[in-house]
Amino acid sequence: MKKKMVLYFPATVVEQPVTYSLIRDYDLMINILKADINPKMEGRIVAEISGEEKNFHDGLEFLQSVGVRTFPLEQEIIWVEERCTHCGACAVICPAGALVVERPEMVVQFKSDKCIVCEHCITACPARAMEVCY
Ligand code: SF4
Ligand code: SF4
Repeated sequence: MKKKMVLYFPATVVEQPVTYSLIRDYDLMINILKADINPKMEGRIVAEISGEEKNFHDGLEFLQSVGVRTFPLEQEIIWVEERCTHCGACAVICPAGALVVERPEMVVQFKSDKCIVCEHCITACPARAMEVCY
């Protein structure tokens, strides 16, 4: 299985080789899409994790056992459709193709499976229709 996940590291864990353990001990592939890690501070990694289903779940259990909180990536960015005016500003700056203008209707659609949580759309949206969900 393959899934994009958000990993929150407490300050006490941030300098430990946790992702290396996932690779070595659980035979998982870790494709880091975004990392915000600083010494002695809480950190966050957005990564695509893939491997055998049992290893995937065992790996997540390991993360939780060392204090790393995990969430599926799709919980992270939310498109509040009723606020959206379909101005298209977000589609222009989205680097992942997750926000697209559908033609010929010219309406914006959010494809959460492509989102890499760069958060550019949060500041670009004049209607505050894009939100981060923690
Ligand atoms: S967070 Fe980044 S990748 Fe995701 S929809 Fe917004 S601009 Fe696109
Ligand atoms: S920038 Fe905001 S209002 Fe404009 S299309 Fe994107 S989500 Fe909708």
